[in-house]
Amino acid sequence: KVNMQDFMSALSEVHPAFGVSEDELDQVVQNGIIHFDKVVDDLLRSGRLLVEQVRVSQRTPLVSVLLHGPPGSGKTALAASVAQASEYPFIKLISPDRMVGYTETQKVQAITKTFSDSYKSPLSLVVVDNIERLIDWTPMGARFSNPVLQTLLVLFARRPPKGRRLLIIATSSLRPEMNDLGLANIFDSELRVPPITTIAALDHVLREVELFSQENEYRETIRTLTEAGFGAGDDMNMNSRMQIGIKRLLSMIEMARQEPEYVAERLLNALMGLGM
Ligand code: ATP
Ligand code: MG
Repeated sequence: KVNMQDFMSALSEVHPAFGVSEDELDQVVQNGIIHFDKVVDDLLRSGRLLVEQVRVSQRTPLVSVLLHGPPGSGKTALAASVAQASEYPFIKLISPDRMVGYTETQKVQAITKTFSDSYKSPLSLVVVDNIERLIDWTPMGARFSNPVLQTLLVLFARRPPKGRRLLIIATSSLRPEMNDLGLANIFDSELRVPPITTIAALDHVLREVELFSQENEYRETIRTLTEAGFGAGDDMNMNSRMQIGIKRLLSMIEMARQEPEYVAERLLNALMGLGM
């Protein structure tokens, strides 16, 4: 008997366009995108505008953007989500997670191959995720793989052949280091992906994931956090005691969920124990 699931997985095995790695993209946006602040919508809109620009403009065959922000702020998921929504015929994700155990040479080859493949399609989008890990950046002694860095520098600046267009979305948590590596001025634009700093944003996430079943317990938790100075101010600000990436917040929430009787306690401990 064929059930719905078989049917759906059979469908997903049919890839209409070559070069679109849908599974890869789905995987990194695993938890979806929560619109916890206006900044999330602004980022997605900026991404959409770049996608449109490359799609329609004759003058900009190559556009590149750097998404930067603290660890876990949602850079990879946002990049993948913009890529998914683009509906370009060629979309690829270059990720250090897929290059574990690669030698330097293999990395250079894999990155170069992805870009040369992209040049065969009229319209392409390549996500270059986590630049610092791709180049094996080590803060101690500021070491990194120079061949991989040089490859990226060349490919980020290389115009695709005539009649082809390419949008590059790169991500990094180390914005200042990008300057020293010569990777800062190479991008046409930059977008900052901020951590969560406000109670309003936290509130949005907590409601969306339905962590609390009791409203009074929930209110109490929010009050405790507010009194402790979390999320002071009502804008995405740097002075807030709370500076937490959505990725980390979601994993704290899932941990708190494991103990239904102590949800509030566990969440508060996790958040307040951040030590900021
Ligand atoms: P790292 O610095 O470790 O590379 P990151 O900044 O790339 O982390 P992601 O790996 O994208 O962060 O993790 C973000 C997680 O949060 C994903 O699981 C994503 O589905 C989820 N998420 C929920 N809402 C959002 C949002 N508004 N923006 C981004 N990610 C979100
Ligand atoms: Mg990432």
